This record gives sequence, C-alpha cells and structure tokens, in this order.
Amino acid sequence: MNRLPEEDAALSERTAAQPSGCRWCGIPKRPHARRWTAAAGWHAWQAPTDAQILARMRARRARRLAARIAACAPQEARAAA
Ligand SMILES: [Zn+2]
Repeated sequence: MNRLPEEDAALSERTAAQPSGCRWCGIPKRPHARRWTAAAGWHAWQAPTDAQILARMRARRARRLAARIAACAPQEARAAA
C-alpha cells in the first residue's frame, strides 16, 4: 500500500502551502518533472485527490490562524513559551 503525504503525522509547510501539489510528494506541477519518493518511486506529477486538497487547505488555514492569534496576543505567546 502506497503512503500519501497526508498520512504523515504533520503536513510539511511546503506541502500545505501547495494544495494542488503532486499526490505523492506535494511538489507543484511546474517544477516537478520526475521525482523519486519511497511511496511512489520515480513518478511524474499526479493530481492530488479531493481529500488531499482539502487536507492541505485546512492545514494552511490552521497555520495562518495560529500565526494571527500569536500576532494578536504577543504577551500570551511569550508567557507560554
Ligand atoms: Zn510527485
């Protein structure tokens, strides 16, 4: 069974930033060419599934929201650190 990037515990920042990135490695179509991953071996860019796009967009939104909250409450963020 092949592993998709979303099956990893956390989406990498790069993968979350590219909702339309490759199904196997998250790299956008244009710079992709042929890549190797343990899951898919050598492969050309392949469209992500709807579930992958949704997961990436959600991860990106959550990251932005966390950054905005940290910016709005710098004292709390500092106290927590
Ligand atoms: Zn790929």
